[in-house]
Amino acid sequence: MKVAATAEQKRILVVEDEAEIAALVAYQLARQGYRVETALTGTVALDAIHRDLPDLIVLDRMLPGISGDDVLRSLKSDSATRGIPVLLLTAKREQEERITGLELGADDYVTKPFSVRELVLRVDAILRRARGELKPIAGGGRILQAGKLRLDVGAHAVTLRGKSIDLTPTEFRLLRTLLERRGRTQSRRQLLAEAWSVDSQVADRIHTRTVDMHVRRLRGKLGSAGDWIETVRGFGYRFRTAGRR
Ligand code: CA
Repeated sequence: MKVAATAEQKRILVVEDEAEIAALVAYQLARQGYRVETALTGTVALDAIHRDLPDLIVLDRMLPGISGDDVLRSLKSDSATRGIPVLLLTAKREQEERITGLELGADDYVTKPFSVRELVLRVDAILRRARGELKPIAGGGRILQAGKLRLDVGAHAVTLRGKSIDLTPTEFRLLRTLLERRGRTQSRRQLLAEAWSVDSQVADRIHTRTVDMHVRRLRGKLGSAGDWIETVRGFGYRFRTAGRR
């Protein structure tokens, strides 16, 4: 297997109490050129994360003691760790349970039993997005504005009435995509392609639900400006044009 040059030096923490799974995942990620650490409990994971921030965390939801969800909540409530992308491992059968993980702020998830190859592809995709290797959108460094909502593309900053809004990298890309295509309806698949780099050919129902969950979170964070993101039933989302308000 070729070692991807772009994966060099990226550090990944694998949090999984099942030692065989942790070792297998760590082995395959290491073969891709990632530097991998494993943690068998949530407590050990949080210690490791705060000691030396990883570039990505593969997090099993089912852990003894502190659950994966609790680890995720803890990461997302701390400004030092909030931006670290998280890929969840979930054994939960119910779709709703998996969706909860995304609502807590995970970037993506794979359901057990998973193919390690798929997991590695998801990790690669998340890190590509984190590095901003998305299809370049013209005019980097621009300010996108809708009323009192202001998005600074270069600074990766969003403010509403001058107050900073804390968005995850995925929420930021989602908002940016919607703002740049203001007034035009975007399908969930289009949004997945732009904000998640998920090939629309492989986007499945779970993936498209992911978009809904992120839009819901984004609306919540935008408060009153969240109304600007309209649901176009059966199709996708659209950022309202100013003239219609
Ligand atoms: Ca487990």
